[in-house]
Amino acid sequence: MQVQTVLGPIDVNSLGRTLMHEHVFVCFPGAEFDPESPYDRRKVADEAVKRITELRERCKVNTFVDPCPIETGRDVELMREVSQRTGMNIICATGFYTEDMGIPPYWRKHTAQDIAKLYIRELREGVGSTGIRAGLIKVATGAPKITALEERLVEAACIAHRETNAPILTHTDGGVMGPQQQALFKKGGVDPSRCLIGHSCANPDLNYHLTIAQGGSYVGFDRIGKVREQTDEVRAANLAQLIRRGFAGNAMISQDCMCAFRGKLVTLTPEDQKMMSGASGPRPMTHLFDVFIPMLKEQGIGEDVLKVLLEDNPRRFFAGEPIAQGLGKP
Ligand SMILES: [Zn+2]
Repeated sequence: MQVQTVLGPIDVNSLGRTLMHEHVFVCFPGAEFDPESPYDRRKVADEAVKRITELRERCKVNTFVDPCPIETGRDVELMREVSQRTGMNIICATGFYTEDMGIPPYWRKHTAQDIAKLYIRELREGVGSTGIRAGLIKVATGAPKITALEERLVEAACIAHRETNAPILTHTDGGVMGPQQQALFKKGGVDPSRCLIGHSCANPDLNYHLTIAQGGSYVGFDRIGKVREQTDEVRAANLAQLIRRGFAGNAMISQDCMCAFRGKLVTLTPEDQKMMSGASGPRPMTHLFDVFIPMLKEQGIGEDVLKVLLEDNPRRFFAGEPIAQGLGKP
């Protein structure tokens, strides 16, 4: 069984330790026109190489999924360069972002079938003329509800999945609407085990996580360190509970860090804008290993379970194997 990386297909068994949601570069649509947000692609590449090399060498991460949506600065050739220079496997995605922050007006006029054609082409032949193929499908929904347009994009993702068997990774705003995404996937003929419901860890309610896991999908604790949204203490406590109840097979951990970001986030506080723009340095990509995993260990989570979260679950997700049941019970 093979999975597409930006350097071509590799065997799923060689994925190794995998972070399911990190970014080389992000730029929300329109920010490329902002004269106050200059962009130096060379510098961005060098910064990404520096950060990803540390992740690879010190933290032993072998694979890095960059689920950057099509329209938010996705640069698959930059990912290819970074992958070549670091030896990190990088897997890119096809799919648009939320109605609130993305989806170019041109594509808003298309049917789910037509949008699916674009997704399928990026999965089968590649992005534009690069020949770089996407390895999974990104779905994004906002809050407090999933809009009609977003629902159409979920439908497009379901069509592309049925056609290509590529797995689906989602964005949720603030960790809500996960079960609703799951219901739409089921309606669209997608087995829930092929879906990773992203950013769930923003939600403080353990029942939210249990609902998604019992519904048969992966639960993304994939914004570790993003304390503006949720504290790591709450994340660690919920994840440990989920594991103790036998759902270690459903959880995946990552950080949603960016090596570089272009643009001003006008909705954020000046401190957060500084953090995001890299003016005071972006969040360290090694936080998961330096800070969060020690917190999990304090909760009694052992190395065997960490391997399930960081290696076995990503491999099963890409291989299309069933979710491992009953793992993590003490
Ligand atoms: Zn992200």
